[in-house]
Amino acid sequence: MGFRKFQAEHIFTGRELLGADQVLITDEKGKVADVVSVKEAGEDIQVVNGWISPGFVNSHCHLELSHMKGLIPEHTGLVDFIIAIVTQRHFPEDEILQAISDAENEMIVSGIVAVGDISNNAISLNQKAKNRLAYYTFLEISGWSPMIADPRFLKGKEYYDLFEQLNSSNCRLSMAAHAPYSVSQKLWGLLQPFFQAKTTSLHNQETDFEDAYFLNKTGDFNRMYEFMQIPTDFFTATGKSSVQSVAHHLHGADKVLLVHDTFTKESDIDYLQKIAADQPNKWQYCLCVNANQYISNALPPIELFREKNCRIVVGTDSLASNHSLSILNELKTIGKFYKTIPLTEQLQWATFNGAAALGFNEQYGEITKGKQPGIILIDGIENNQLTTASAVRRLI
Ligand SMILES: [Zn+2]
Repeated sequence: MGFRKFQAEHIFTGRELLGADQVLITDEKGKVADVVSVKEAGEDIQVVNGWISPGFVNSHCHLELSHMKGLIPEHTGLVDFIIAIVTQRHFPEDEILQAISDAENEMIVSGIVAVGDISNNAISLNQKAKNRLAYYTFLEISGWSPMIADPRFLKGKEYYDLFEQLNSSNCRLSMAAHAPYSVSQKLWGLLQPFFQAKTTSLHNQETDFEDAYFLNKTGDFNRMYEFMQIPTDFFTATGKSSVQSVAHHLHGADKVLLVHDTFTKESDIDYLQKIAADQPNKWQYCLCVNANQYISNALPPIELFREKNCRIVVGTDSLASNHSLSILNELKTIGKFYKTIPLTEQLQWATFNGAAALGFNEQYGEITKGKQPGIILIDGIENNQLTTASAVRRLI
């Protein structure tokens, strides 16, 4: 079997940055054989321009919404965005399937190797079964009225059982609750046994109306429930933030991807750390900055997450709220607004941390002997930061 040897400006291993004096050696499939000094590497070294990195992990996506690209205008705010999704997501099946396949291609071309994908149905199943990317499917259920908890759960469980047939090292699965404001106590109770020792996901604090609703039942969510004719009389304000009101339901989970966290406060982080003090990596703060920009023109408090040593991962969200499914484009936006965050740290969120969060770290997320993480090249890096000209391509 032949070997391939790469030398670049830097090799980012997933956790550390190596210099140009190091050479990455892989087999033809990209399985890492070694990283050695140029002197020891021998002949036939391919010299490339840019940084070599393990393939990206997209920790939050909704493949099944790919057909909604460009449909919803930007900056509507979350409530009108949700109303648009609910009322406009229904399309002919062949169009949805084609968009899913195209979206997957886009992810592969942009250097993504593994995806945490939210599924409210099983329409993405056949594409995932092709095994072109590793998928962690979060079979997501919602239902604010306790009256519909049973039928919603049973329908979701049917889809869950379909996905379970794919269950393999490259196709993982768990149940997930959609968001604090869309899952009743009763439905949480039905979902809870499925979180046990797994990674699950929760859309969290994407708008400040979420906390307003839980704190005192005020704000724009009232308009949403009214529009959707969802009763709310059963709900009493908890006097706590949304995430603090529901976190106990996630007690049994090994890891939880808290997605968006745009309006997460220091007191929320402290609370979450305290209730899972024996699980330091339980809460994974999943940034989807381009979607936050698209929907609300907002950004999550990333500096706060770093100060608090939060575990950070990166996702694209869906094409309904993003112009592309590119992790590089997410990092470009982070770099644009948070100029002091080192690129190596951001790359770790997008590779090593994502793979570990989704349980794909045996193969992905790190350039180290024996793993086959996908080898990508990022160019256009100046002063150790991405530029608008930065691009990514797959070496293997
Ligand atoms: Zn989402």
